[in-house]
Amino acid sequence: MQFDPASKIQHLKQFGEHGGVNPSITDSSTFTFLHAEDMEETFLGHMEGCFLYSRHWNPTNKNLAEAMAAMEDTESAWITASGMAAITCAILQVCSAGDHIVTSVTTYGGTYAFLKNYLPKFNIEVSFVDITRLDQVEGAIRPNTKVIYTESVTNPLLQVSDMPRLADIAHRHNVLLMVDNTFTPMIMSPARMGADIVVYSMTKFINGKNDCVAGAICGSKQFIDDLSNVNNGTAMLLGPVLDPLRSASIHKNLHTLHLRIKQHSKNAMYLARELSQAGLKISYPGLESHPQHELHSQLMNEDFGYGGMLAIDFGTVAKANQVMQKMQLADVGYLAVSLGYFKTLFSCSGRSTSSEIPDPIQREMGLSQGLVRFSVGIDNNIEDSLKLILDICREEGVIDDHSDDV
Ligand code: PLP
Repeated sequence: MQFDPASKIQHLKQFGEHGGVNPSITDSSTFTFLHAEDMEETFLGHMEGCFLYSRHWNPTNKNLAEAMAAMEDTESAWITASGMAAITCAILQVCSAGDHIVTSVTTYGGTYAFLKNYLPKFNIEVSFVDITRLDQVEGAIRPNTKVIYTESVTNPLLQVSDMPRLADIAHRHNVLLMVDNTFTPMIMSPARMGADIVVYSMTKFINGKNDCVAGAICGSKQFIDDLSNVNNGTAMLLGPVLDPLRSASIHKNLHTLHLRIKQHSKNAMYLARELSQAGLKISYPGLESHPQHELHSQLMNEDFGYGGMLAIDFGTVAKANQVMQKMQLADVGYLAVSLGYFKTLFSCSGRSTSSEIPDPIQREMGLSQGLVRFSVGIDNNIEDSLKLILDICREEGVIDDHSDDV
């Protein structure tokens, strides 16, 4: 796919006051009007370019929203205080009581919990399917289905969603396709493949510093206007707005995202290749052994690689815990949840970020108890990490002593 999201951001020319090369931070929750009629018109949604109140819109958030929309190639975007706020607001904007959602069973645990445990109290039904089985997806659609929900590359199994074909199914049934692109910013452009709404946890790769929690919703101008409608917009009424100071710092970090993604991908590809050669059970979409390697290759934008996420199955929770503790001590990275950080982070998914998914369903979907999800860092010397991981795996008997040294 020929699309360069990094250049889209680079050429936005968003200046600050006094010719600042960075947009100014608007440190105000409310805004004055010279004419009282303009205030009324703004409340009615008839005035463009006027700001009312920061829960509605703030100029700093608007700048970041413009950059996110440029990156995703959508008409508009909205900035939220977390990824979960983006996901929940987008879903609640589209679905009402009596509606139905078809979703991938492998999603981030918080999303799974929202869909499975929270939405029933609004009488919104959810069918969980294997998102790689398009027959299952289409078969689950009902007359009251409003959304097909998936992650571009799923957490934590790293299944690749066939977004063009999912969009085709959705649109044939008059349903929206909503994609969480948190794992693959720049690598995948879901809206260009037919997704109607793209949601993000910007906490991860986009910000890349693990210093705050934030999210974004990208979509049509109409959808974003509806979300912020003062009478019935979910984002306006639930109020999960991001503070403009954070918005400004994320915006600056967005400008280095392309470099970071390339390095995350390069390091992850290196570790995936070497560790699978050494005999470890690796899941990484860049490896030919990955079931959707071909699909990922077809869908991805050029130059950004296959992403920074990989998974290793150590068999049991006890073994996974042992290996993770030793990797932290050896400074391969940190035993921590989250992803997209400059250092490598690892966690045992079934016991952490997917623990909301009951054990029998984890087993059914193929999530091994010993699966460790790695968010590979942007280390300048990833070779050192490889040596350390191999040593630890030998010590722990996960690979045999004679596996090739590097
Ligand atoms: N989407 C994915 C794929 C995630 O991994 C996460 C968090 O781990 C979220 C959404 C939720 O984001 P946040 O923690 O910013 O609310």
